[in-house]
Parts: sequence; structure tokens; C-alpha cells
Amino acid sequence: MELNDTGLWQTLGHINGKWVSAENGITFSVTDPATGAHLADVPDMGASETRLAIDAANAALPAWRTKTAKERANILRKWFDMCMAAQEDLALLMTREQGKPLAEARGEVAYGASFLEWFAEEGKRIYGDVIPSHGADKRIITVKQPIGVVAAITPWNFPMAMITRKCAPALAAGCTVVIKPAEDTPLTALALAELAKRAGFPDGVINVVTASHGADIGNELTGNPIVRKLSFTGSTQVGKLLMRQCADTVKKVSLELGGNAPFIVFDDADLDEAVAGAIASKYRNAGQTCVCANRILVQEGVYDAFAEKLAAAVARLRVGPGTEEGVTQGPLINTKAIEKVETLVNDAISCGAKAVLGGARAKPGSNFFSPTILTGVTADMRIFSEEIFGPVAPLFRFRDEADAIRMANDTPFGLAAYFYARDIGRIWRVGEALEYGIVGINEGIISTESAPFGGVKESGIGREGSKYGIDDFVEIKYMCLGGL
Ligand code: ADP
Repeated sequence: MELNDTGLWQTLGHINGKWVSAENGITFSVTDPATGAHLADVPDMGASETRLAIDAANAALPAWRTKTAKERANILRKWFDMCMAAQEDLALLMTREQGKPLAEARGEVAYGASFLEWFAEEGKRIYGDVIPSHGADKRIITVKQPIGVVAAITPWNFPMAMITRKCAPALAAGCTVVIKPAEDTPLTALALAELAKRAGFPDGVINVVTASHGADIGNELTGNPIVRKLSFTGSTQVGKLLMRQCADTVKKVSLELGGNAPFIVFDDADLDEAVAGAIASKYRNAGQTCVCANRILVQEGVYDAFAEKLAAAVARLRVGPGTEEGVTQGPLINTKAIEKVETLVNDAISCGAKAVLGGARAKPGSNFFSPTILTGVTADMRIFSEEIFGPVAPLFRFRDEADAIRMANDTPFGLAAYFYARDIGRIWRVGEALEYGIVGINEGIISTESAPFGGVKESGIGREGSKYGIDDFVEIKYMCLGGL
């Protein structure tokens, strides 16, 4: 791969400031989802390397937590500057191992880096309180202290941003971290670790362990009493397992799990705006984000008009390898992903839905799926209740506002929801009635470092980004000062 900065090509794990292989020398292969080409071999680590990483993070903790917030902020800020200076290289690495178009990868580098900048600043504002006392000779004081060693297990769909969104607040608060990146996308994580090293993070503050399967590392990270906090983004199934595993050592957990986002188009919506929002929300990253519109609910009176406008816009999307100029739709991450999308589309069609666009795999290679629109989709089809994670927009029909809210909330998930409407009363009513952690109103893109990202119900616990993002990495200590 032609990186300008060849030092960003790192293929070993990172423990206590050193690049290390797996103890048994075993590696696993990282491939390009667009072509199937082999990119690198990366250490297949397990419990013992993870223990070393945890011990390194624990040893680095006392010196890191006692630095001033400003000292930590300066290093985080340098890391931000270095990521932005390396934007092109990081984007290329990301596109090659993950598949997203280069323009989106550049966007993710900027988005991912923004958490470093944001939390460098927020870290200086972790205030405690002096609380009015319950006795004349006593004072109540609270301080917020770093929770300790943090484990971060991250997914492949945002190989950089899911790491920085967890690690930046943890590091800013004074915690040290052990990162387990997704097996599909370890190279971006390792390049980030190299940049962190250059930025001046002391050895052991940031560690990265890689593996072809998460289970062994996950068992150690969740079972080891030194780790005080697990922050996980990934599937609901694995999130539930990790939460159970954390119970024995009563760790704090933050979970960002699956979604089943409704995207509601009311009859008073600006349809062109709604189409633009749907394209942004549905087809970004080829539909592989946990906030992607999963169910497009359209009011009866505008259903046909919306379907027609959406089809015209989706027909303009261009499928191909993410490295190719002008491509807007890259491959899906792997065979499992493409098979799942195919199964859901076939199920809907066999139950009476119609593919007005796409509906099958696309030409450039085995992992590509045509941008698809399904009409005549109903709530009894699997696609209503399962996360698609692919470029497929199923259009459901609804009668009125109550109907829309009932359908939107008819899921155990509650991450992101979107709706398009102009009536101000409706905007408040629907905004408040949606059982979701994030609601985009006349807006299809909601992620930014300055807003709290997170779900309710089975979509997760905790918030990432914003002034609230640090809360998950600190403990409140109450000190009662008596005998005055
Ligand atoms: P997806 O299905 O989207 O790949 P996963 O939840 O399987 O989502 O993966 C998200 C992250 O969780 C990845 O880093 C993966 O390696 C890790 N992971 C998967 N299974 C486990 C497990 N049993 N313990 C710990 N981590 C796991």
C-alpha cells in the first residue's frame, strides 16, 4: 500500500510501548473487502498477551492519572494534529481494509480526530462540587476521579472513530486503555497507536491487542479485576454476553449495540429534503452503520411520490471499490454480511415486497450489493425487525401519526430515529414520543463530537461524545470533612 508515511504501516500488536507478535507466533490475515486481496498478517493474540497489556496499563496508570488535565490535553491535542496531518494515509488504510469510499474515509478521519480535540478540552473541566452540608462542623465535597484501566472493544464499520470516541474521554479523564479492534480492520487501529506514540503518550497508556476472534481477549478483559470499565461497540448479541461476563467483577459498562432506526416521512414533509436525508442516513458506508435508517415509514398520501423520488436519487449512486474516484457505494465488509442482506431481501420479496431498484448482488466483486429499494414491505417481514446493515431501503406504509409512532417504537432497540415533518406541534409530539436515544428531525446525519450519542432499551448503555462523554470514565467520590 502506498502510504506517504510508511511508519503508519504497523502489523504487530502494541503493548507497553513496544510492537509485539503473538506469543505463539500465530497470525491472521487482513483482506481488502473490495478485491479479496491479502493486505497484511497481524498477530492472533489471546489471554496471555491481553494480561500483559492490562498489566502495562495498570503500571502506567499512577503517573498518567496524576498528570494535570492540561498536560494530558496537550498530548491528546498533538495526537489530533498528527491524525489530521496523516488524514490521507489513514483514509487509504481505512478504505483498503474496510471498503468505504475514500471521501467517506477522509470524513471519518476528521470525525474520529474531532473526539481527540474535543476531549482534550473537556478533560480540563471535570468539576467536583461543594455541597451544602448536613452539619455545622462538616463539609461535603465531591471529586471525580478516573475509573482506572479501561477496555475498549470496537467494531469494523468505523475503524478509527469508534476507538477515539472511547479512548479520548478515557485518556482525558486520566484512565489508561487496552484496545481490541475488530478483526476485519486492525490496521487503522495500529496506525493510530503509532501516531499516539509519536504524540508522546507514555508507554502502557495505550495498548492494542489483535485477534481473529474476540472471545479469548474478551474473556480476559471482562474477567480481569484490574479492568474497571468496559466500553463496547458492536452487535447486541456480543454486548449482552460481555455485560454478563462483567458481572462477576462488577465492572462499569458502556454499550453501543444494534439499532433498528425508523425514518418517518409525514405527509407535510418536504419530500426532496426527506429524500436527501434518507440517502445520507441509509446509504452512507453502504448502509453499515448502527444509526442507518433501517425502516423507512412513509405516510399513505406521499408514499408513491416519495418512492419515485427516492428511486431517482438512489439510481445515481455509484457502486465500486472505495479507492475509485466518484464511487459512493463500496463493498460490504465480508461474505457473512452480504449473505445476511441477501437473506433479508429474498425473504421480503418472497412475502410480497417488490424491488423497484436493485435487489441483488452487484458486479464489481463478490462483496458488493446493489443499492436497493423495496416497496410494499410490511411489519410481518423479517426486515422490519432485523438490522439490515446493507444498502437496502424497505418502504413501509402508515396511516396517521399514532400509527407511525406505534410502528417506530415496535422494536426492542432504541438508538436513532429520524422523521421529516413541518408542523411544529407534530414535531414536538413525535420527537417526545419516539423511544430512542437520538432523534434526527428534518436531518439525516446526526453524529458530531459535541452531541451525546447513545441508545435506550436494548441498543445500549451510556453516552459517547459531548460534555456527557466523560461521565462514563469517572467515579464520583464523596468526601465528608468533619470535626471543623
Ligand atoms: P459484528 O457482527 O458487527 O462483527 P461483533 O459484535 O461480532 O459485531 O464485533 C464487534 C467487536 O466485538 C469486534 O472487535 C469483535 O472481535 C468483538 N467480539 C466478538 N465476539 C467477542 C467476544 N465473545 N468477546 C469479546 N469480543 C468479541
